[in-house]
Amino acid sequence: MQILSIPIDYKPRTNLLSGKTILVTGAGDGIGRSAALNYAKHGASVLLLGRTEKKLEAVYDEIENAGGPKPGIIAMDLATAPETLYVSLAASLGEEFSCLDGILHNAALLGDRRPIESARYTTWHDVMQVNVNAQFLLTQHFLPLLHQAPAASIILTSSTVGRVGKAYWGAYAVSKFATEGFMQVLASELENTSKIRVNSLNPRATNTAMRRAAYPGENPTGNPAPQKIMPAYLFLMGDDSAGITGKAFDAR
Ligand code: NDP
Repeated sequence: MQILSIPIDYKPRTNLLSGKTILVTGAGDGIGRSAALNYAKHGASVLLLGRTEKKLEAVYDEIENAGGPKPGIIAMDLATAPETLYVSLAASLGEEFSCLDGILHNAALLGDRRPIESARYTTWHDVMQVNVNAQFLLTQHFLPLLHQAPAASIILTSSTVGRVGKAYWGAYAVSKFATEGFMQVLASELENTSKIRVNSLNPRATNTAMRRAAYPGENPTGNPAPQKIMPAYLFLMGDDSAGITGKAFDAR
């Protein structure tokens, strides 16, 4: 697999996402929170999806206090939400918005770091549900709204262990391989039939709760804060990446 980088010294213009509506999953914390704040700062109306409402409200307040476009909050547990909820969500957003310009699929569960031999099915199931199945359900039910946009972008969040398998990364690594597969299949289906582009993005080691849980012995400040990798998230979401689809990117 060829891994691409965004142009060196890419500087997004301030109004890059002006007038766009963008859905960010896992928007309450870590990289998703940072992406939501940056998308709003660059002009987007951001739909904040996550499971902890209080965290989403805090991001909402930050966007409002910074003078950004009014965001929306979608409190939803991707591990347990039935398909009917995705259907009704897509229907109600369709009544409010004429189109959806982008989705950042970012929410994920780390699950257990243990050998496959002793992996617990319940954890395996939850990781697959959040990291893979929710991406499919959201994408499928939101495609009609994405098709209405002049040039929509779908970003799927990958990982280094989703490109080369590594012992003890279990369901998480397998889910990220599935994410790369989903990206390739969807991009190929949409390439000549729509203006929707689909790419994967590996943030690489970033100082968040997930990274600290995966590497408890590591000095957390040795990894960049989410804000540092935002140029890649902006590049792939905005029109500067028009025409790029089916590609795997590293954020740095
Ligand atoms: P965090 O754990 O900090 O944030 C994950 C976000 O996903 C949280 O907001 C969390 O909500 C949300 N989430 C988790 N489960 C659910 C659920 N069931 N329903 C709805 N939302 C949920 O992780 P990161 O910011 O580090 O990770 C973001 C993405 O980047 C993930 O896809 C991850 O796999 C990937 N990644 C991260 C790396 C890193 O070094 N940080 C490296 C490689 C990839 P809540 O706040 O309520 O828990």
